[in-house]
Amino acid sequence: MPRILIVECMQEISSFNPLLSGYDHFSVQRGEELYRQASLNSAVGGALAVFRTAPGVTTVPAYSARAGSAGLLSATGWQRLSDEFVVAVHDNLENIDGIYVSLHGAMGAEGELDPEGFLLTEIRRLTGPQMPIVISLDLHGILTDRMLRQIDGLTIYHTYPHVDFADTGARAARLLLRLMTQPTDVAIARVVIPALVRGDELITKSGCYGDLIRDCQRIERDGTALAAGIMIGNPFTDVPELCSQVIVMTEGDAARARQAAVRLAEEFWPQRFRMQGKLISIERAIAQARTMAGPVLFTDAADATSSGASGDSNAILQGLRAGGYDKLVLAQIVDPRSAAAAHAAGVGATIEVTLGGCHDPGRFTPMPVRARVRLLSDGQARLETMRAALDAGRTAVLTYDTVTVVVLSRSVSLFDRAMYYAVGLNPRDFDLIVVKSPHTEYHMYDEWVEKNFNIDVPGATSANIRMLGHTICARPMYPLDEGVGFTPVATLYRPAPAATCASGITFTRPPARESP
Ligand SMILES: [Zn+2]
Repeated sequence: MPRILIVECMQEISSFNPLLSGYDHFSVQRGEELYRQASLNSAVGGALAVFRTAPGVTTVPAYSARAGSAGLLSATGWQRLSDEFVVAVHDNLENIDGIYVSLHGAMGAEGELDPEGFLLTEIRRLTGPQMPIVISLDLHGILTDRMLRQIDGLTIYHTYPHVDFADTGARAARLLLRLMTQPTDVAIARVVIPALVRGDELITKSGCYGDLIRDCQRIERDGTALAAGIMIGNPFTDVPELCSQVIVMTEGDAARARQAAVRLAEEFWPQRFRMQGKLISIERAIAQARTMAGPVLFTDAADATSSGASGDSNAILQGLRAGGYDKLVLAQIVDPRSAAAAHAAGVGATIEVTLGGCHDPGRFTPMPVRARVRLLSDGQARLETMRAALDAGRTAVLTYDTVTVVVLSRSVSLFDRAMYYAVGLNPRDFDLIVVKSPHTEYHMYDEWVEKNFNIDVPGATSANIRMLGHTICARPMYPLDEGVGFTPVATLYRPAPAATCASGITFTRPPARESP
């Protein structure tokens, strides 16, 4: 009776957010607590659904740590997290036949710039070479050589904005079961593309990136590949192997994996120019918004908390004030001091506070406002898409001039309307809505606003990638450098065919990696 160990560790960081994150950013589940994800649109939820219906399979959930995006993880936070993760694997390994590891891929910690590579290396060290290990990844993750040397298979999100969390976990679960029950010789081809990309063309429903992803889905469906995907990395996670990359995993035929990966990389490369953010200055955007009936959206991708920014940017609020914009504005900002002041004063009070610039004072100057406290909350909400819990800490709705601003104590994902709805605000009641996310699902805003302006303001996750100041990732890299060339070369990783382990299956593993 095959027993499958399930572990998870997910965070995405921006190296350009000056505020470190810590262990307390993570929501940790141990043992059977992981089954709470069974009803969620999460990778573990999707995997559990497959394992539950697979005949004779027993799941052994061990550990899950999930954090919202934030700054680099502190050394002490990483030490505790990685210790807990590794101990949980160690303590649950008895009679295990296969391991599913749910990862994001864009972690970074003080002193460890490839945390996922470390965790997978530790798992492999504990299990030895014969244990089948399959991982799932966000397409914004940074899949490293060290990670690829430890694993037997992987699946990657195929949608952006992401809606296929559970589907990706389900594909990983099916892949793991297949590797465990039908021993096979697999090849994973990787083509590294020296490009960082951003912008609307990455929306898989409508953008050119989506055409390439649909090709990955096609070759998965028609059996050409066991798994295929194009990871674009998180351009804000400045780590040595940050890049875009094509991954194709095939059964048996390494040449087929190599060919498909090279072809997809060749098709991706000339489209890098299109896959860049198209931004407008705030002055021009305000001037245009004034002439429109509206409503309009001001996208603040530079302060996208879901990509790891600090959330305390007041650049758009400052711009609206300077520009004298006088229609109804709805915005969000992270500012624990002002949230605390509002809670101390109570609903109905008028307070003098500053908004923003509390975590990233190098980029943002605190903005003084005289505001009315309209509503107070504990900051609890649930994401619209994944239904995962959000905890923004003490939260206040303040109004000043024609602006309504939701002040959060903690950074949480703002890529949907959850934190507006949670405090009784409907974006449709306003003329101009600020969203701290590069994109949202179409129906949330784009379907009904007159225009979505991508505002060129500073921030730790600006789509103006050149302005961020990368110092660690490999160079040359488009668009950081001029005249970057590219010849696609596939590196092959060859986990070996399985044969018998605890439940009668063995997995032999020759040294991974074959030179191009
Ligand atoms: Zn992502």
